[in-house]
Amino acid sequence: MNMIFHRKLPIPQDIKAEYSLSEEMVKIKEKRAEEIKAVFTGESDKFILVIGPCSADHRDPVLDYISRLRLVEDKVKDKLIIIPRIYTNKPRTTGEGYKGMLHQPDPETAPDMLKGIIAIRDLHLSALRDYGFTCADEMLYPENHRYLSDLLAYVAVGARSTEDQQHRLVVSGIDEPVGMKNPTGGDLTVMMNSIKAGQSAHTFIYRGWEVESRGNPLTHAILRGSVDFAGKNVSNYHYEDLVALNELYAKTSLKNPSVIVDTNHANSGKQYLEQIRIAKEVIHSRNHNDDIKKLVKGLMIESYIEDGACKAEEHIFGKSITDPCLGWEKTEKLIYDIADKL
Ligand code: PEP
Ligand code: MN
Repeated sequence: MNMIFHRKLPIPQDIKAEYSLSEEMVKIKEKRAEEIKAVFTGESDKFILVIGPCSADHRDPVLDYISRLRLVEDKVKDKLIIIPRIYTNKPRTTGEGYKGMLHQPDPETAPDMLKGIIAIRDLHLSALRDYGFTCADEMLYPENHRYLSDLLAYVAVGARSTEDQQHRLVVSGIDEPVGMKNPTGGDLTVMMNSIKAGQSAHTFIYRGWEVESRGNPLTHAILRGSVDFAGKNVSNYHYEDLVALNELYAKTSLKNPSVIVDTNHANSGKQYLEQIRIAKEVIHSRNHNDDIKKLVKGLMIESYIEDGACKAEEHIFGKSITDPCLGWEKTEKLIYDIADKL
């Protein structure tokens, strides 16, 4: 036997009942959901920053980081909506390596999925309870989405998942904005098709149920750059890329044409410091053209307390153990610069 069934795990409903939101937390979640939705529908011209570490590796540094964002957001909230990244599931290019807090609540001990489910819910709960933030996470495993579905402000479908049918169907039943990343190979028609699928109604099987989704009109694009056949990074954040995406949207009947530009990954070639220049270039493109201003709703920035990345064994508080991130000082300055230039 190649698969051993260890134990039956609690269903999302049970986990949600045990680790629940207070009335006050539900109110904050709903208020933020309204504000964020208004950006995607075009009723609000606030700019969104989905910002935080590549992976939420440990509770303490992630909450320390989020506490810093809290102080910053209070100063820029008339222009910006900050959505911290708490990324608890990590896709790995070859399947090897750290798979995120869901698998390993402690990156250095063996996977424990029950502890993982509780740890990721607890982290998202703490961000809301203690700092008033609902956050973003990647929906890497659609069947696990409902362990967090009452907590999330924003959901991303990663570059390696955008073409997957089950991801698309589950997105169509999510209430929050969902960003579909362009695939690693860069084909934008794959991304546009996934947005169409996410915005449409479907009947399908989910967690052993026959379910019906109504379609998610807040499904939109995330541009993250791509890698060509020779392994070279190809960026897609420049003015011409944004104009081309606007034209692609114009040929469709998709609702709420929107894009979030990811400043790291194949856009920066993981040269994380380039994120500063890329963010400013995107703001400049928006200011140059009103159609682009309407289209580009925000940025996704990989940022943490320390600059760069390290190995998990190095135990550096607030330093990424997956993709290299912009450190706190540069991040804080960048957020104020963005707010100034909008
Ligand atoms: C990420 O956002 O950290 C990530 C894994 O992104 P992508 O799917 O674009 O590689
Ligand atoms: Mn990353």
